[in-house]
Amino acid sequence: MTAYDYDLFVIGGGSGGVRSARLAASMGRRVAIAEEYRFGGTCVIRGCVPKKLFVYASQFHEHFEDAAGYGWTVGESRFDWPTLIAAKDKEIARLEGLYRRGLENAGAELLDTRAVLTGPHEIRLLKTEKTVTAETIIIATGGTANPHASLPGHELCITSNEAFHIEELPKSILIAGGGYIAVEFANIFHGLGVDTTLIYRGKEILSRFDIDMRQGLHKAMVDKGIRIVLTDVIEEVTKSPAGGLTARTKAGATIAADQVMLALGRDPNTVGLGLETAGVAVDHRGAVVVDAYSRTNVPHIFALGDVTDRVQLTPVAIHEAMCFIETVYKNNPTAPDHDLIATAVFSQPEIGTVGLSEEEASAKFDEIEVYRAEFRPMKATLSGRAEKMIMKLIVNAADRKVVGAHILGHDAGEMAQLLGVSLKAGVTKDDFDRTMAVHPTAAEELVTMYKPSYRVKGGERIA
Ligand code: NDP
Repeated sequence: MTAYDYDLFVIGGGSGGVRSARLAASMGRRVAIAEEYRFGGTCVIRGCVPKKLFVYASQFHEHFEDAAGYGWTVGESRFDWPTLIAAKDKEIARLEGLYRRGLENAGAELLDTRAVLTGPHEIRLLKTEKTVTAETIIIATGGTANPHASLPGHELCITSNEAFHIEELPKSILIAGGGYIAVEFANIFHGLGVDTTLIYRGKEILSRFDIDMRQGLHKAMVDKGIRIVLTDVIEEVTKSPAGGLTARTKAGATIAADQVMLALGRDPNTVGLGLETAGVAVDHRGAVVVDAYSRTNVPHIFALGDVTDRVQLTPVAIHEAMCFIETVYKNNPTAPDHDLIATAVFSQPEIGTVGLSEEEASAKFDEIEVYRAEFRPMKATLSGRAEKMIMKLIVNAADRKVVGAHILGHDAGEMAQLLGVSLKAGVTKDDFDRTMAVHPTAAEELVTMYKPSYRVKGGERIA
């Protein structure tokens, strides 16, 4: 028993915070967890989960169209946005309830309040104006959408936060950014019948992905009817006299849209958290600086998830939380492993990826082999849909290790999960070659690309 009110106080009820609080409480620790908005955090409340529900909703019109090639006559169809929002809200409330109950059942105390640090071991609960103390503190406050405050008219725009609650589905939308959120929402809105334009400052969307994924997705989106404007940025957003908004771009274009959505990255959520008072160091972006074990410069204060700006992904925050438990409560120092994280972009078509892009691999290794297949998936034959899947394996020629695997197409995210296991286990191309195909699937292409499409040596494509 310590002199503190709690053994562990967690600030932030998102993925990382909830997992660490629940596990510590289930081990008999006296745990409190404070959340100022809703338990579940960005992922459950206004991120991954509702986004995926929106993705499903936005795909039905293509399913209806595809059905005709298989002999179905589908009657008149109509989409109702308020029905989707209400169903989504109900599901999110259910999940939030599960998160709350999981914490309660483990014995954690839930505090529905903003909490700020007022000393190295001291936390102020703003709702009750009460101050409590804890032996160990976790900062797991996540991130917030970059409001792009320097953009004139930014207050007229929405971010992904509001996109989940717009009252009326806009007829047109302009989305700024070329990352996960911009690309996913461009496909969602387009799929729901919204006239959609994406504007991105770079030469190709999804700057951190393999070039074939980037170009392949770009083409598929344009073919569907999404406008993509590259190497340009919005410089001003104003209200149009006739209603809606007008965006003026750096290149001199004027784009009118009912809504303008900014998806320009997410900032660590540390403003006003009392970190200075507690002596916790942050970097130039406001992210909490941590060591390999998620420990801040104040030894009993830890930080997990997006607030540390390491890798902004839910499973990473959860993994970091489990490593915290091992390190602090099981006497088994465990550093989170951030290598070879499989991830998916829920664009349409999807991207599933793990490991190095061709560009990264060719910069890292003297010689690489690239295995690449582009084909029409079987389902598209009878439906007549013009769509291509792209699969790509990047192999280090020196030891035959597969160092990157990239898929564009249906279920790419599902495949990436399993490829993640293989690459983590150090799979070689020879292992792929001696693996029997599952037929007929799209994934069988991954184990039947026997000959390299080309090699890259010293950064130059050689054959
Ligand atoms: P990303 O970092 O993916 O993308 C941000 C985009 O905004 C980039 O295209 C970036 O350009 C651009 N950008 C940043 N600042 C400016 C600026 N000042 N002017 C113009 N463009 C700018 O962030 P998101 O907001 O899309 O998503 C946040 C994080 O959430 C992601 O990093 C991801 O980790 C996570 N996420 C994961 C999802 C998943 O797993 N499916 C889904 C959604 C989010 P540039 O590339 O040139 O830097």
